[in-house]
Amino acid sequence: MKLKDKVCIVTGAASGLGLAIAHKYASEGAKVAIADLNADAAQKAADEIKDAYGTDTKALVMDVTSEDAVNDGVAAVVEAWGTVDVLVSNAGIQIVNPIEEFKFSDWKKMLAIHLDGAFLTSKAVIPHMYKQGSGAILFMGSVHSKDASKLKSAYVTAKHGLLGLARTIAREGGPKGVRTNVICPGFVRTPLVEKQIPEQAKELGISEDEVISKVMLGNTVDTEFTTVEDIAEVALFFAAFPSNALTGQSLLASHGWVME
Ligand code: NAD
Repeated sequence: MKLKDKVCIVTGAASGLGLAIAHKYASEGAKVAIADLNADAAQKAADEIKDAYGTDTKALVMDVTSEDAVNDGVAAVVEAWGTVDVLVSNAGIQIVNPIEEFKFSDWKKMLAIHLDGAFLTSKAVIPHMYKQGSGAILFMGSVHSKDASKLKSAYVTAKHGLLGLARTIAREGGPKGVRTNVICPGFVRTPLVEKQIPEQAKELGISEDEVISKVMLGNTVDTEFTTVEDIAEVALFFAAFPSNALTGQSLLASHGWVME
């Protein structure tokens, strides 16, 4: 039990990567708050995880771009469980378009969910982590924290930005026992990616099979998708790491798509 009784908040945990991380943390003994815009799916996930592992869970209806919603959600967790030990800022969406057609409103929405969300959730949990002298913050970056692809100006900008925020919090939080790291997955077949396959095929003028084999997996070492389980393992490794040696880092898990 690597996270026995640890209090964890995972945003965007009603689906995809966040849901898999919530399962993994609960299976290691954590109390897990499932924070998501989608109230029904968050409650369903919280109930299922509680039944599966017997740990305490909580569904939080939270729009990570709303300071009030984030603060209220974190306050509810602290009231129920006393503190926050681990934050996974994972909620995200994707909007693809060439830059000359990218709506300014979409650009702002993307930066708000990915960057404001990481900032607001970190800001809300950090006082509790400082108070107890320990805590782990994880941001869900991407291969697009390190590299770029066509059609993804806002996503690539936001995911690069998370590296800067993580490094700053690592420096500020280090003396107070708070670690901050970024996970950088390659393509994982979640709803976020399934939606992109036809959209990219249309924009790039190629077939959906070619989007998968060339655009998504073309640079991997084995033409395989990364899985939600792969990323949940990385999230467990960062959350449970036993010292402050591992902070300010970003780890690519992408079947070798990008190597550094
Ligand atoms: P997903 O669509 O399966 O899940 C995203 C979840 O975030 C959904 O439950 C959604 O309701 C929630 N959400 C969206 N906006 C929100 C908001 N404003 N406030 C709270 N919750 C919100 O997507 P996923 O693939 O699991 O993506 C999760 C994260 O992983 C994202 O940050 C994404 O950029 C990142 N990522 C995904 C991949 C991939 O290939 N799937 C690769 C690299 C990084």
